[in-house]
Amino acid sequence: MTTFLDDPLFEEKLIACRRQLHQYPELAYGEKETTKAIKNWLSDAGVDMLPLPLETGVLAVIRGANPGPVICLRTDIDALPIQEATGLAFASKIPGKMHACGHDFHTASILGATLLLNERKEELEGTVKIIFQPAEESGSGALKVIESGVLDDVQAIFGMHDMPNLPTGTIGIKSGPLMAAVDTFTIDIEGIGTHAAAPETGIDSIVVASHIITALQSIVSRNISPLDSAVISVTRLESGNTWNVLPQTAQMEGTVRTFREKVRDRIPEQMKRIVEGVAAGFGAKGSLHYTKLGPALMNDAKLTDWAVSSAKSSGLQVITPTPSFAGEDFAEYNRKIPGAFFFMGVSGNSDLHHPDLIIDEKAILPSAKFFANLAVDMLKKVKDL
Ligand SMILES: [Zn+2]
Ligand SMILES: [Zn+2]
Repeated sequence: MTTFLDDPLFEEKLIACRRQLHQYPELAYGEKETTKAIKNWLSDAGVDMLPLPLETGVLAVIRGANPGPVICLRTDIDALPIQEATGLAFASKIPGKMHACGHDFHTASILGATLLLNERKEELEGTVKIIFQPAEESGSGALKVIESGVLDDVQAIFGMHDMPNLPTGTIGIKSGPLMAAVDTFTIDIEGIGTHAAAPETGIDSIVVASHIITALQSIVSRNISPLDSAVISVTRLESGNTWNVLPQTAQMEGTVRTFREKVRDRIPEQMKRIVEGVAAGFGAKGSLHYTKLGPALMNDAKLTDWAVSSAKSSGLQVITPTPSFAGEDFAEYNRKIPGAFFFMGVSGNSDLHHPDLIIDEKAILPSAKFFANLAVDMLKKVKDL
């Protein structure tokens, strides 16, 4: 029997699938055609699917010939609201939408792994669920999948992100924190508006905001241990609307990124102290509104350790990656289920979320092989978790 791995057309097929997804990118929760395409590819290959009570996304299942645990492979499937500027022959045909985060690459790779695993049922000691998850970019797709209960029986979960700055054929594997917790905030300053020529009759909200922005940077440098890490970025400052009036109010917006919960939990209090205290020092009123979004992505030590040998036997070169301060909603699974998330080298020309990003499609087949081998290996090992 010839298998997909013997078939020189298998790689071409996966590349064709990736290009189709790339040409028709869909945003979070709008992945209707993407969902249809994935279902067609799976059913053409005789892969079983399970109900997924969401509008978009697909849940496939490979039941091994031998009893054992249940593990999950996860890919995200959504694109970004970016106008593509690659000039590729298979560039996005949808104005203002682009697979600029490589979720088309993830989907083609995990589809490949699924097709390979479907041929290896005799070898499998347990069950592999494969979740094609919607809405990673909006940050809540993973939560919707978890709430649906379809992964309640899963004992270990695995996923990846493509990394343009790593060469094809390399994989970043690291235990512990890999991607950051993501929080957002807004700060409101209430001063007293007045004539620009008579500042002594008002309270200048722009001066107050400027002092707060500067003082906030002391949290990372003075309140957090040099051995820990955090980012506090003010990304928007709005105040006033003309040149001869000192405005009554100012508003700021920004984000906080951290890896450790202990550090994350202290930052809102430290920010509040500065916002209220600095504003009060100028006779103004400052208020902080702080929202926690996704948690940090923490890789399980045993799973990452075991994954190294699967990567090596799949022909990948294993490196220790630098953690990223970007967020990733795979972290939501990791809160409930032990998991491991990898960085896959794709020899990109640019960064993620850039309109000119081109990745190396030669990375698809090695990724597919790796995730298939990983699933076979992990079913044998997760009993010992
Ligand atoms: Zn992204
Ligand atoms: Zn992404």
